[in-house]
Amino acid sequence: MTSDFLPFALPDIGEEEIAAVVEALRSGWVTTGPKARQFEADFAAFLGGGVEAIAVNSATAGLHLGLEALGVGPGDEVITTTHTFTATAEVIRYLGADPVFVDVDASTLCIDVAAVESAITPRTKAIIPVHYAGRAADMQRLLALARKHGLRVMEDAAHALPTTCGGQLVGTLASDVTVFSFYANKTMTTGEGGMLVTRDAGIARRARVMRLHGINRDAFDRFTAKVPSWYYEIVAPGFKYNMTDIAAAMGIEQLKKVRAFADRRTQVAAWYDEALAGLPIVRPPHAAPGDVHSWHLYVVQLADGAGVGRDQFIERLFAQGIGCSVHYIPLHLQPYWRDTYGLTPEMFPVSQRIYERTLSLPMYSRMAQGDVARVAAAIEEALR
Ligand SMILES: *Cc1c(COP(=O)(O)O)cnc(C)c1O
Repeated sequence: MTSDFLPFALPDIGEEEIAAVVEALRSGWVTTGPKARQFEADFAAFLGGGVEAIAVNSATAGLHLGLEALGVGPGDEVITTTHTFTATAEVIRYLGADPVFVDVDASTLCIDVAAVESAITPRTKAIIPVHYAGRAADMQRLLALARKHGLRVMEDAAHALPTTCGGQLVGTLASDVTVFSFYANKTMTTGEGGMLVTRDAGIARRARVMRLHGINRDAFDRFTAKVPSWYYEIVAPGFKYNMTDIAAAMGIEQLKKVRAFADRRTQVAAWYDEALAGLPIVRPPHAAPGDVHSWHLYVVQLADGAGVGRDQFIERLFAQGIGCSVHYIPLHLQPYWRDTYGLTPEMFPVSQRIYERTLSLPMYSRMAQGDVARVAAAIEEALR
């Protein structure tokens, strides 16, 4: 990496986060405690709509806890999209259930609701849509379909803070569980971390217990409540998914900035849209009218007649100091998923076609208009 390399993603961490983490370290309470509790309260208040927020050490952990709380187990099927990160599907296998992969809608790059309907069997228990790149999936139709068939819905909202759908923030829709990610390159970060959100008190209770070893109260409670501090009960073989106060301290400060981050990402997307107009580049789908796109990713496709293959195009951009990525190598091409479930590209023509021509351009809140101009100039050069 040269010093003037423009990376694909960068976290936006200020002095506020640094001071908050230092304060957490000095407080003497570094694991789950008052900061984690405050972060949960702040996050629930940010979303509104009477949701409960449960902080975990990754979105993957949250997705696992969510499905576990929904009662997914061996013999069940869970329908999800092939055009996602493997975490969305691996949690289904953690519980001994089987993912059923479906294609995406070319106009949103999110799960194709008609394909979901065709994939429902008597074994289907739940659906996991992904708000790809930060653009909401068609949740109105998906939730109606789930209701009609008595299926549970868990949203993988790793990209979707602060995305809206039908004017409502993702996290406050009528699904059973929504899970956000605070991984390093997401729209806000705690280094590693995630948040499970639900309005269902039973799911929330189960997720809190399973988050920490199946203990009926967390460690902070034990040292502050009136019952003897040494007493606890194990009610299930739980996991170790709690968020540290160090991470939560960072999350509290990042959350305060998340609207400003989103405004900046929206501006960067608008600069890209303008700079790429007229080039053989298919620009990304926008949110539905009136809705917010979080712009976690700015995903383009090479148009027919671009005259260069995707892999070579990325190499040419890299040679000019521009970092890019690909979201995603679809799961139907990944050896484990392909071989375990007998998946072929022909089963997912939309995802496959997008994969062959897609790349994600640098996108983060610290980007300036000059950075976008530089990427656009590099793209013109790479197309030559
Ligand atoms: C990042 C991501 C995850 C996993 O998030 P972690 O916090 O890293 O566990 C899950 N699903 C999607 C779509 C993601 O992009």
